[in-house]
Amino acid sequence: MELGSGKVAVVTGAGSGIGLALANGFASAGCSVVLADVQDDALAAAADEVGAHGVETLALKVDVSKREEVEGLAATTVDRFGGVHVLCNNAGVVGAGDPWLGPIEGWEWVMGVNFWGVVHGIRAFLPHLVMSGGGHIVNTASMAGLYPGLAGPYDASKHAVVAVSENLYNSMQAAQMPVGVSCLCPGWVKTGIVDSDRNWPAELGELPPRDIAQEIQIGHVRRAIDEGMQPSAVASLVLDAVRDDRYWVIPHGDWLEI
Ligand code: NAD
Repeated sequence: MELGSGKVAVVTGAGSGIGLALANGFASAGCSVVLADVQDDALAAAADEVGAHGVETLALKVDVSKREEVEGLAATTVDRFGGVHVLCNNAGVVGAGDPWLGPIEGWEWVMGVNFWGVVHGIRAFLPHLVMSGGGHIVNTASMAGLYPGLAGPYDASKHAVVAVSENLYNSMQAAQMPVGVSCLCPGWVKTGIVDSDRNWPAELGELPPRDIAQEIQIGHVRRAIDEGMQPSAVASLVLDAVRDDRYWVIPHGDWLEI
């Protein structure tokens, strides 16, 4: 689809990392941008940065794991801009606590954000994308959605995002709906994702401590991420995929080289 003024892009997890780069990318293409994130401070700074491209922005505090909040995001976007054309379901967290010996809330949190966040986004926005004349949905999965084994709930949630994306793509094709779908599967990208347990919701109780095995794994991941791709490079591949209506976006394949 063509991007530019008159088009509206919504990005979840837009307060930092890949989401912020996506928001900047759509803004530099001339789109109005709605930024959604759970982190207030990061959101305000991100909206200033994205607004500097001279486009309209709207920043909304949204927890994507909560269906009502995502439905509110869709309704507010359409009220404000009259329609919506791109949805990036990008918010994500790595996890907290040992997957097998730690509290079950560790699973519920990761699946809530990474899996249910994507499902809520698709269900809330799809009718509006169609009514706006067509659009595109980008789901951020991961290399961890293609190769299992690295991190319990994170891997499981990202495999689910790949499955959901393929199902959505096939459904849109079968029904000849004017909505493109892309599944983004990055390897290592230079962001603060390893410290995503800063977003652990207080309502789930105390943050489960990392055990020594997790600390070692996080150390490896942190080093790999430090040498990873720039978020802006990933965002530019996503924008190309939206423009060309491509499904897979796999920035690089060195996931296992740690
Ligand atoms: P990041 O931590 O910089 O960005 C994630 C953003 O999501 C943060 O701004 C965070 O506040 C927000 N967020 C967390 N929980 C939320 C919730 N419940 N509701 C709304 N927003 C929420 O990390 P990133 O690397 O930019 O991650 C973006 C996406 O890319 C994630 O889905 C992640 O799994 C995926 N990814 C990242 C890498 C990598 O190497 N960085 C690799 C593969 C996939």
